[in-house]
Amino acid sequence: MPSGNTRKSIVGQGKQLFSMNKLIKQVEQWHRDRNLIEGSDDKAQVLKLIQELGELSDSVCKGKPIDDDIGDLLVVMINICVRNKITLESCLSHSWDEIKHRKGVMRDGIFIKEEDL
Ligand SMILES: [Mg+2]
Repeated sequence: MPSGNTRKSIVGQGKQLFSMNKLIKQVEQWHRDRNLIEGSDDKAQVLKLIQELGELSDSVCKGKPIDDDIGDLLVVMINICVRNKITLESCLSHSWDEIKHRKGVMRDGIFIKEEDL
């Protein structure tokens, strides 16, 4: 039986998930309302993604907050997901299944997977 604090934190996570799903739907609609799904394409959106990644790099290098940069990356990734009829959740789940048992070593702050050693 979870303690009071654990139970509260599980309920909190549920609310966060609901909130995340609601936010994703709102961002999807934002893209549709601006014709950024049918009116754009994956190549254009990947370029936008790289632009936003550059902004994240700039913020990290300058020690600035990264919330906006991560959010902007997610907005563009949602665009690409919608056009390809996939979801952030299915993509993350796929990656999780691939990495969850991965073994390797750390070198200079980079994780090198076992098969690449
Ligand atoms: Mg930005």
